[in-house]
Amino acid sequence: MARYTEAKCRICRREGAKLFLKGDRCFSPKCAMDRPTRAVAPGQHGRARKKVSEYALQMREKQKTRRTYGLLERQFHNYFVKADRQKGVTGTNLLVMLESRLDNVVYRLGFANSRSQARQFVRHGLFTLNGHKVNIPSLLVKVGDIIEIPEKRRKIKAFADAAETVGRRGTPNWLEADYAAFKGTVKALPQRDDIRMDVNEQLIVELYSK
Ligand code: SF4
Repeated sequence: MARYTEAKCRICRREGAKLFLKGDRCFSPKCAMDRPTRAVAPGQHGRARKKVSEYALQMREKQKTRRTYGLLERQFHNYFVKADRQKGVTGTNLLVMLESRLDNVVYRLGFANSRSQARQFVRHGLFTLNGHKVNIPSLLVKVGDIIEIPEKRRKIKAFADAAETVGRRGTPNWLEADYAAFKGTVKALPQRDDIRMDVNEQLIVELYSK
């Protein structure tokens, strides 16, 4: 499976936004985006002032969202096609689908420090979904789904580390985490307001609708 291997902070610098790709480091003073000398686009012309076209704005919003969820272009575009076929607002449908991915839910629940770690955990089969082992990070959760860490996996240190740091980012209202029982429940599907992400999804819709 293809994946991104580019340095994560470099991606944030390119997008000019904190994408929270590196777990707890993103909440520390070490974050490159919180250091004025580092919070510029990478490369020789990173500090140069550029005239930003409408197309460039749309492209940046798309790239920012795609990279936040760690998806390749084709995967991201497939989500857009599905979102466009659904009833309702395409941009919101798109974000709700991305947010409902199992790897994202594991991250939001605080069972992993970052989405990339969550994806790795899911691929390694460290969770069950409604009592059945799963290893598909792209699986979309439904209301009432229960994500659990089986008893034999509970001693893995990374889970304790992730649970310790989840307080800094919080668990969204549509999910319920029970750390004592190593369990998370999907109480509802996320609404647009639940997705705390600085993105203008309408620009993505405009880009793909050309
Ligand atoms: Fe982005 Fe900062 Fe996290 Fe690096 S530490 S991935 S710059 S948010």
